Amino acid sequence: MQNKRRLSQENSFSMNISIATVFPGLYREFLQTSLIKRSQEKGIVSFDVVSFASFCHPKERLDGPTVGHGSGMAIRPEVIERMVNGQEEKHGFAYKIFLTPQGRKLDQKLAVELSSLFLKNSHIMLVAGRYEGCDDRAQSEYADLEVSIGDYVLMGGDLPAMVLLETVMRHIPGVVAKEDSIEQDSFMGPFLDFPTYTVPPREWKGRQVPEVLLSGNHAAMNAFRKEKAVLRSVKEHFGWVRARCIKKDDKKLAYASMPAHYVVLMHDHVLVQDGVVGTSSVTSLDIHDIARSCSTYGIKGYALVTPLIDQRKIVETILDFWHGAGIQYNNNRAEAVELVSLEESLEKVIAAIESKEGKKPLLVATSAKVQEGVRSITYYDQSIVWKEDRPVLFIFGTAKGLSSELIKSCDYLLLPVGGFTEFKHLSVRSAVAVVLDRWMGINLSRVD
Ligand code: SAH
Repeated sequence: MQNKRRLSQENSFSMNISIATVFPGLYREFLQTSLIKRSQEKGIVSFDVVSFASFCHPKERLDGPTVGHGSGMAIRPEVIERMVNGQEEKHGFAYKIFLTPQGRKLDQKLAVELSSLFLKNSHIMLVAGRYEGCDDRAQSEYADLEVSIGDYVLMGGDLPAMVLLETVMRHIPGVVAKEDSIEQDSFMGPFLDFPTYTVPPREWKGRQVPEVLLSGNHAAMNAFRKEKAVLRSVKEHFGWVRARCIKKDDKKLAYASMPAHYVVLMHDHVLVQDGVVGTSSVTSLDIHDIARSCSTYGIKGYALVTPLIDQRKIVETILDFWHGAGIQYNNNRAEAVELVSLEESLEKVIAAIESKEGKKPLLVATSAKVQEGVRSITYYDQSIVWKEDRPVLFIFGTAKGLSSELIKSCDYLLLPVGGFTEFKHLSVRSAVAVVLDRWMGINLSRVD
């Protein structure tokens, strides 16, 4: 009832959408189909599709050659000016959106923002470019917003205009019947939608509808759907999850869907000089600094590997401090140091993880250089590693880095981190922090 009242109030609000295009015919079917058609019948919105050509004087062209070398045509500024003035005379002042590959990328968040903008402005204008686009002066003069639908170039802005309408209109009250279905849509929050099935058939090509969805137990169904939604979002769309995960509970859910990660710092099988493989000394700072990075990013264990007895004694002494007096001295550091273990070889670290997790870890080497003979992965490749459903062990080197034999024995090599300079000498402590952040850190895309 409340919903109905709200809808009827909003329906009395009339929204005009002008669309300026070279090819108005493209919109005929689109505007006469399904929910877009119904939203006009319901009086929520009306469309006015206009051709740039109708704003040209007799014999005048709507496009003109672009200046500079590289041939091409663009829509002329005077034609855009006449179109804007003509449409504003007809429907009042417009909020103007130019579709261009260089604009703000359309995503669910922008779609929601635009839906409230559509509701606040009685006239919205979508300007679809074509050829090389619109003259830049006219675009800069008139565009309140430039929108791109993705990092690729289309022949014209008409499909982008339709894509924008298909997504924004879903959020205008009354357009999509069941409003709550929108709330569960993919990309509304940090997670994507759960998988859907139709019944009948309960079984199709040997694939069953999950039993729990047929159980009638709503709590169990919701829990199952949430779990599936989080799992597939984390595994397949981690970039989105990390960009949108703000709430503590959501972070917890996402973390629980990631495989267990471990870190090892090698003081053996490292390059002590170019071409010479050997052992290195332990640095006390590496113990608690790296432990703190590991705690921050949810690493399950951090092992230091050194086969040297005197070096092991040093580490044991430091660890004893953090397990005793260090607790009083700095409790946070002491807590982080709980993750630290000392091993004499990488094999022992791997065996310890296997006995704890029940599966051998995938070995991910890190290096300041790329190397042949091992599969390189980037910081966008979580889905490749995580779909193997095994624990992950990041291997960091000391001295001049891991030996190439060790790197070649790993499953993957993570590309080096770095900036736009040629200097590539991060301390291993800094490298661990940067790598962990790039691999599994929160990375919000925009502040709400
Ligand atoms: N030379 C331009 C592309 C022009 S494509 C460039 O490289 O940036 C012609 C028109 O198609 C554009 O003016 C725009 O309206 C539309 N268009 C092409 N790709 C688009 C995209 N990804 N998003 C939105 N509009 C796009």
